[in-house]
Amino acid sequence: MSVDSKALPADLAKEIEVYKNQFWVPTETLNKIIEYFISELDRGNADGTDPTGIPMNAAWVLDYPDGSETGDYLAIDLGGTNLRVVLVHLLGNHKFTTEQSKYHIPTKMRTTQHREELFGFIAECLEDFLKQQHPEGIPTGKLFPLGFTFSYPASQNSITEGVLQRWTKGFDIPNVEGHDVVPLLMEQVEKKGLPIKIDALINDTSGTLVASRYTDELTEMGCIFGTGVNGAYYDRIKNIPKLQGKLEADIAPDSPMLINCEYGSFDNAHKVLPRTKFDIQIDNESPRPGQQAFEKMTSGYYLGELIRLIMLETYEKGLIFKSYTKSCEQIKNLQTPYFLDTSFLSIIEADDTADLSVTSNEFSSKLFIDTTFEERLFARKLSQFIGTRAARLSICGISAVCKKMDHKVAHIAADGSVFLKYPYFPERAAQGLSDVFGWEGIDMKDHPIQIKHAEDGSGVGAAIIAALSHARKEKGLS
Ligand code: BGC
Ligand code: MG
Repeated sequence: MSVDSKALPADLAKEIEVYKNQFWVPTETLNKIIEYFISELDRGNADGTDPTGIPMNAAWVLDYPDGSETGDYLAIDLGGTNLRVVLVHLLGNHKFTTEQSKYHIPTKMRTTQHREELFGFIAECLEDFLKQQHPEGIPTGKLFPLGFTFSYPASQNSITEGVLQRWTKGFDIPNVEGHDVVPLLMEQVEKKGLPIKIDALINDTSGTLVASRYTDELTEMGCIFGTGVNGAYYDRIKNIPKLQGKLEADIAPDSPMLINCEYGSFDNAHKVLPRTKFDIQIDNESPRPGQQAFEKMTSGYYLGELIRLIMLETYEKGLIFKSYTKSCEQIKNLQTPYFLDTSFLSIIEADDTADLSVTSNEFSSKLFIDTTFEERLFARKLSQFIGTRAARLSICGISAVCKKMDHKVAHIAADGSVFLKYPYFPERAAQGLSDVFGWEGIDMKDHPIQIKHAEDGSGVGAAIIAALSHARKEKGLS
């Protein structure tokens, strides 16, 4: 008998039924969300400035890569937890190699009061990397071209600028929102006398799309399912009214334009997403209430918080952890916001022992709580509901883009910690797509629209986009 078919005692069984219903997103609801999502994509393309809508940021990538791009490029990837510096050798013929270093971003730097600290840190990492590459001394004869992957919403009037719209994923540094981050970085780069020029500023989703398209031309979208969530795709100039007057008059209406949707902010007006009271609490208590509504229900940043809130509620009803008093250390931890992260759920879901002993260790090592089998089973079911909901909701962005663009067959390049590390996420997402598109009975590997693990978008993608933008300049195009 598998663990999952074992029964909970009556009181917990009653509770779990309630959470199950709250977190299950039926196909009809998915369809409703997708329909509204499509209208929001169009609305953002007409005018992306309404904070309750999706920005649909034009990324100024006006070409598809064809795999022939060549050259050596530096790339930096400023993500939620790490800064990566990558040297990409584009070899043409759909091939590339990379060399890279990872630098941990000190937690306090995410909320420093001095923006110079962040950009100075990036410049330091670049210097360190160049020194490693050139132990004999950094050559000064030429400028190294750099692609800057900045995984936050930025509005662009060209590929070499990006004005931060708002911080997400727990970053909060004053005097960056509303500013172009390229000169902020260049100032620090120049202070160090580093021979670097920024050829492209890109989003991680744009990079994911372009890098995967370099090796697989069926790729129609780049998506991140990680600390944040977002997607990018190529639209056509004629479908993006807000670009009227910003492009050369003779540009063909069917020309492609890469769009970084920034759909983590989908449904900030709370019209269609089935929020539970826990989602509402997370939003209200977040530093930015009302922002990133879709992200708050699907991204890795919040999944641990959801299970914490539910377990705390169940504890307060007197149904679990009964031997722990309210004032003990264990329960104080359970009361601490963001005490648990997504790995807590991942580990529980991956536990394949008959007595859930891995889960038992997880509880004792993270929360110092000794659990009963029933408590572990309860936590496992909660993880399954939360993880399944995140995966099913996640495919709404993909479905909306594929329906809107009429992509009947497509590869969706995906990256991010949740996609890579959360057990069954890819399978549950594929099931969601199958429910929406009606592929019942078709094996996941034969689905017409498939989510595939992406090429390294934040590194290789930045390099390819820098190469594309370089090639356009050579041809005298903007
Ligand atoms: C950011 C996006 C980014 C996504 C995934 C979101 O919080 O706003 O720019 O693409 O996270 O990293
Ligand atoms: Mg990243």
